[in-house]
Amino acid sequence: MIRVRFAPSPSGHLHIGGARTALFNYLFARHNNGKFILRIEDTDRTRSTDEYIDAIIEGMKWLKFEWDEGPFRQTDRFDVYRSYVDKLLKEGKAYYCCCTPEELEQRRKDAIAQGKTPKYDGRCRNLEKGQRVKGSKGQSKNAAVRFKMPQHSQTVVDDLIRGNVVFENDQLDDLIIMRSDGTPTYNFTVVVDDVDMKITHVIRGDDHLNNTPKQIHIYKALGYEIPLFAHLPMILGSDKTRLSKRHGATSVMAYKDMGYLPDVLVNYLVRLGWSYGDQEVFTREELIKYFSFDNVGKSSAVFNPEKLIWLNSQYIIKSNPEELGELVIPFIENANIIQKGQTIDKQWLSKAIKTLQERSKTLVELATSLRYYIAEDVGYNEKAKTKFLNEKSFPYLKELKENIESATDFTAHGLENIFKSIVEKHGIKLGALAQPVRVAMTGGTESPGIFEVLEILGKEKTLKRLDKAVKAIKGGN
Ligand code: GLU
Repeated sequence: MIRVRFAPSPSGHLHIGGARTALFNYLFARHNNGKFILRIEDTDRTRSTDEYIDAIIEGMKWLKFEWDEGPFRQTDRFDVYRSYVDKLLKEGKAYYCCCTPEELEQRRKDAIAQGKTPKYDGRCRNLEKGQRVKGSKGQSKNAAVRFKMPQHSQTVVDDLIRGNVVFENDQLDDLIIMRSDGTPTYNFTVVVDDVDMKITHVIRGDDHLNNTPKQIHIYKALGYEIPLFAHLPMILGSDKTRLSKRHGATSVMAYKDMGYLPDVLVNYLVRLGWSYGDQEVFTREELIKYFSFDNVGKSSAVFNPEKLIWLNSQYIIKSNPEELGELVIPFIENANIIQKGQTIDKQWLSKAIKTLQERSKTLVELATSLRYYIAEDVGYNEKAKTKFLNEKSFPYLKELKENIESATDFTAHGLENIFKSIVEKHGIKLGALAQPVRVAMTGGTESPGIFEVLEILGKEKTLKRLDKAVKAIKGGN
């Protein structure tokens, strides 16, 4: 059974890179009918917060990356790590180190001054037990525990994406697996957890590739089978440096707030590294069906916000209006277009949304346009008002109002006939009437087809707005 995990450190929000790692794990698990595990790596207590744990979980839920086990927290597992440290100590595969931070710093400086790569010099490695801690429990308590790394030969990481990557063992440090305060460190906890949680494939960003040989030695020392590894290429910004806040929003939830659909983000993220022919748009089912590491490239992917927004607009066009209605409600609430919890006629909303799908790139834009349908009243854009609500348009607007008052057919089709009769009667262009009406109805000069707009607004609101426009021109006449 394939078992994979996403193991974020809660020192920030779920970001684009993390979400892509989570996605590849999730898809790999689902494709293989395996299990997807969520593990929170919160041993660094100075940087981890509960708020970030919640934020990561919120992001995972928004993207619908359902996990099968967890979330486990490493801070709940200190006893487990302790027992594995004890095992290694007992077997002579790890040792206490009493070097103080000051000593280590001095030796590091000396090494650099001598042109050597700074590395733990192994001072405590070969001390006899008695020499080091004098058999006293008290002393060993204040000591860190280091892992005995092999010092010769090479380690080969057989990576599903990159193939064989070779590391020289003499470059590997005797890393600290437990600090003197008793807290375990990343390279150790990650192995213990992956062993304990029976992880078969470790899928993570290739910023961790250098850690992998160290972790392989820890697996070996513990006597466990080494999982398979897949290190995902980095995600870069447009200037080809590592994606960061400098390139714009990197938190997944910021995209939610900007009005992106979760499926768009998933579809976009999967293409950062993975491809399937030249297909660009995938359903979740297709992703699960097609996903494999054979199609994950080695080179870094560039995050392109323009493409993301384009994809969002395509999804909005193709989405079912009822579903968009559900998604846009929080946005119209946040923009105070309706009150929180206020009911809205869903069927009417879908109809309104249908007219706006082609013109909205995000849910925020969709909500902004819905304002003129939903609000009781609209304010005019000053320029539009001056240009279109004036003496010239006054008689047409007035006539339209009168014709609509007596109209029985208030459908887009019926309205078109009313407009046509006025336009023909006065020998004017449709725009000479439609644009002023558009300003009267929406406050601005851009909207879906005017007949549809009126139909959605309904007779009562249309008349009210025409009346207001007429009065705005003639100060009450
Ligand atoms: N906690 C690590 C991180 O957030 C991930 C470790 C791993 O996947 O092995 O970078």
